[in-house]
Amino acid sequence: MTNIENIGEVICGIDLGTTNSCISYLREGKPFVVPVEGTSAIMPSVVSYDESAEIMIVGREALNRLAAFPNHTVRSIKRLMGKDTKVHLGKKTYTPEDVSSFILKMLVEKAANITGKTIKKAVITVPAYFDDAQRRATISAGELAGLEVLRIVNEPTAASLVYDYVTKEDDMNSPYILVYDLGGGTFDVSILEIKGEIKEVLASCGDTSLGGDDFDERLVGLFLRNIREKTGMDFSSDNRALHMRLKEIAERTKIILSDKPYTTVREASIIVIDGNPINLDIEIQRDEYEDMISDLVNKTIEKVNEALEEARLTIGDIGEVLLVGGTTRTPMVQQALSEIFDIPIYHSVDPDLCVSLGAAVQSGLITGEPLGHILLDVTSHSLGIKTADDFDEETMDPDHFSMIIRRNTKIPVRKADIYYSTYDNQDKVLIEVFQGESNSCKENTLIGKFIYELKPAPVYCPVVAEFSYDKEGIVHITMQQKGYNNSKDVTLDVRNREVKEKDASGDTRSVLNYIVEKYKKIVAKEGLPEDLKLELVKIGTAYERALRDGKDEDTIDDLETLLIEKMEEAEDVE
Ligand code: AMP
Repeated sequence: MTNIENIGEVICGIDLGTTNSCISYLREGKPFVVPVEGTSAIMPSVVSYDESAEIMIVGREALNRLAAFPNHTVRSIKRLMGKDTKVHLGKKTYTPEDVSSFILKMLVEKAANITGKTIKKAVITVPAYFDDAQRRATISAGELAGLEVLRIVNEPTAASLVYDYVTKEDDMNSPYILVYDLGGGTFDVSILEIKGEIKEVLASCGDTSLGGDDFDERLVGLFLRNIREKTGMDFSSDNRALHMRLKEIAERTKIILSDKPYTTVREASIIVIDGNPINLDIEIQRDEYEDMISDLVNKTIEKVNEALEEARLTIGDIGEVLLVGGTTRTPMVQQALSEIFDIPIYHSVDPDLCVSLGAAVQSGLITGEPLGHILLDVTSHSLGIKTADDFDEETMDPDHFSMIIRRNTKIPVRKADIYYSTYDNQDKVLIEVFQGESNSCKENTLIGKFIYELKPAPVYCPVVAEFSYDKEGIVHITMQQKGYNNSKDVTLDVRNREVKEKDASGDTRSVLNYIVEKYKKIVAKEGLPEDLKLELVKIGTAYERALRDGKDEDTIDDLETLLIEKMEEAEDVE
């Protein structure tokens, strides 16, 4: 067995991507990514030549030069790998292998700085569909960068290698894994079969011109329509600088919409017409954005079905679905997959990084480095709230679990969704927080509830529920009535099931006590019918006693539900 740390050498795993690249290495049996751009591990796969300084620029700085120096800058070189072609960077001419080698050299330099070790060997990943010429070109690029390429590994295989070392709750009972990889410019879906230590790619298909960039373009289209409405002018095809600025805004907007139910795009002076600056000021709802991208998501699902057909498998044969590529953070993508697969969808390892991490794991497998388990902080259950989108067939009570944070999401995480009031001047809502995987709250676990008072507003008033889950297992919930100065913060300890809420003074107190306090106030209310008062006291006393005696959670839950129902009944008495 070789301990690579001792021989002053580190073998790296490199994800040489179309849009972005990253590099990882093994330390004490665990893969780590190298920060290559400040603290970010992701480096744009862009190369630019500065003719005046006669230097090659790689990464974010090169990307920043793209608009100003398009003839000196090249991106997406991966698309040309294996082709007998040349690219021009100013007066210089390079092969695709040369350009890729500049990217590799930069990554290796950064890794050498971080590890303090020489890097001479690497494992490099390629898409499963790469043919022989494309694979050979990738090896040449590595050699031109001064590397010995120990192995070329398929990207989905690399991604699945990371998951082998992640501690998982579920034991997979099928040897088939589906890897869904939706990046910036490409989409790949692969089906792997595990045969002992070996992973075989059974099917691989995709679309080399489908990815997050297309999602951005849909938003750019919306912005252009907005500008046209304001100015009567159409900028759709020309004006490259405007297009680049809009694309940047679109990407930012898209990323916000992955976590929030709506966002407002406010950009001053997007274009100046006859001396008048035109601003962008649009509110976009996630639903609206999802309508714009649904055909793109559906296209990927068609490819999933094609891959299954090619592998002669059905949906039920797949034991695990792994998500790779930044665009898989889009909730609609995860939703579409969880609608067709009734199994865990793994996206707990950072989808941008797992291919390079897996390549580092592969380097350890080659050198015999003992590999440790990767411990991830992930949510073990989905978290959400009860809504009236569905009803219990027996009792006709509302019973729909509206998920806000999906199971297996890496923590810390912050997610929000939007809900609506159900009648005019609704004065409060009971927020019941559940964890579990069923669409029915009855089958999930209630982990806390609280009342959120609403300001008078017409029916269908939007209310945003934002959940942020930290590493200690604490969920902070912020309720916000949109358009009204009315927010409420509640803290919920998922592990100890204690609910605390912050009042206006910023003090924290237990919701349980809050319910008791509220019940006492209601009992003291004048004009309450005697029988209702008696019932209220009976349940309230039992509830207080159960809390004091530390009764089991189910008993407390049942009494609490009864008490809240009675309190609501009493509150309705004029
Ligand atoms: P990759 O090629 O895997 O690095 O993926 C890059 C793509 O992921 C780009 O189109 C990004 O805009 C997109 N992306 C990154 N983060 C998010 C996010 N939170 N939600 C949606 N798309 C994202």
